[in-house]
Amino acid sequence: MSSSPAALRAEALESLLIEKGLLDPAVVDDVIERYNERIGPMRGAQLVARAWTEPDFKQRLLADGSAAIAEYDFEGGQVDKLVVVENTDTVHNMVVCTLCSCYPWAVLGLPPKWYKDPAYRSRVVREPRAVLSEFGTDVPTDKTIRVWDSSAEVRYMVLPQMPPAWRSADVGTLAERVTRDSMIGVEVLA
Ligand code: FE
Repeated sequence: MSSSPAALRAEALESLLIEKGLLDPAVVDDVIERYNERIGPMRGAQLVARAWTEPDFKQRLLADGSAAIAEYDFEGGQVDKLVVVENTDTVHNMVVCTLCSCYPWAVLGLPPKWYKDPAYRSRVVREPRAVLSEFGTDVPTDKTIRVWDSSAEVRYMVLPQMPPAWRSADVGTLAERVTRDSMIGVEVLA
């Protein structure tokens, strides 16, 4: 990824503030971590919560992810084609990039470290259930597991199943409950 002028500017400012003792690098790391874990994936979580509560939107999202999110002003692009795959009672989906670390930045923020790990990238294809159980996720054996290999051209996001107990929650509350890992497919929401 090439650095944008804004990124360079931010980096210059950060270095300067740290040098002057005005900024604690740990605070910066904390902000970045929060962005990675929460704020970034919140875009995806908004889409999921809306899909759960608006059948029309869900249909559009599954039919053509890129078109469905075009109305949102998600910056950070990095998604030429977004494909959203739906978890159902019979199918569980997982996302990987076996070649490198392609990831739908625009909707999930920055990829977690383990997503770039060669072990995850190779094993998820060979033994998805073993990988899932290491994440503490048990998918019933009668469910088909589908692994989607991302590329620079096509990025995948999982539409997780909504736990039945959440049915009465409003869309905002639902969005807060949707986790990044559930949209990569290594977690089942409960
Ligand atoms: Fe990649």
